[in-house]
Amino acid sequence: MSERWTVGTVLAAANEYLSGRDLPGARLEAELLLAHSLELSRFDLYTQFDRPLSEAERTVYRGLLKERSTGRPLQHLTGTQAFRRLDLRMADGVFIPRPETELLVEAVLDRLGSQGGSAEVLEIGTGSGAICVSLAVEAPGTVVWSADISKSALTLAALNARAHGVEDRLNLVHGDLFSAVPAGKVFDVIVSNPPYVPAGEIDALAREVRDHEPRAALDGGPAGLDFYLRIISESRQWLKAGGLVAFEVGVGQASEVAAELSRAGFESVDVTRDYARIERIVTAVYRSA
Ligand code: SAM
Ligand code: GLN
Repeated sequence: MSERWTVGTVLAAANEYLSGRDLPGARLEAELLLAHSLELSRFDLYTQFDRPLSEAERTVYRGLLKERSTGRPLQHLTGTQAFRRLDLRMADGVFIPRPETELLVEAVLDRLGSQGGSAEVLEIGTGSGAICVSLAVEAPGTVVWSADISKSALTLAALNARAHGVEDRLNLVHGDLFSAVPAGKVFDVIVSNPPYVPAGEIDALAREVRDHEPRAALDGGPAGLDFYLRIISESRQWLKAGGLVAFEVGVGQASEVAAELSRAGFESVDVTRDYARIERIVTAVYRSA
């Protein structure tokens, strides 16, 4: 009887179960959860299609599928998320990085590349460390600072920094925006993917986001723009002349953020689109008077 359940047949059943619960990526998610619960890679699943599953293994897998079907994010169940070159650890209560944020890292790397050498970068809003750990790994000359108001985010980011061997070049600090950055320090780059969802729209987000992402990682105030306005108005005192500001923005926010940067005296304001052709990244250069 139990020989019926192999990697292959269990995956087919799991796919059907998740598809019936409104999860568009059902097959992929079924595979990632099974690989996780059997401690195999996804590739191993395909080479071990006829491997039988014990009753205990099936019970664990069923539990994961059930949790996933209630809207708990896949990344909280597997505890990992891929981001650029990194495999990052995830944890409940800390924002899961999104693919489009990889482009924000790209924008900063483009800039650091032309500058070469040992730049200093400040990130506002660390989360899991996706941006700051990637920058420290991919731009080995840089020293990165990153601030978050959430202690659990900083704990997770510290773990990710150690796992990727960059803890010596990453200073994680706890506080509201710039408040924990040593007074008088100036940076070559300030980068942020701040909370940018308009407060009134949070309830309409996918349940994975609405019910499982920390509200403090999403809520950008009435129009979603509060953090941009605060960061732009304070950033000049933290930037070297010729320094770069780089933001990720929400849908429809790029032109307002760009306009605010121009009003604040920034130059070379530039907007780039993401994979879905949405204006997503806004950068600008600070030229001091
Ligand atoms: N940088 C990560 C990423 O891209 O995956 C996390 C981005 S998440 C959208 C925004 C982060 O900003 C959250 O980790 C949140 O805790 C943090 N945050 C919210 N309010 C803050 C504040 N006043 N000062 C510093 N960080 C804040
Ligand atoms: N990208 C998130 C979403 O799912 C919002 C992230 C943010 O506020 N920076 O809407």
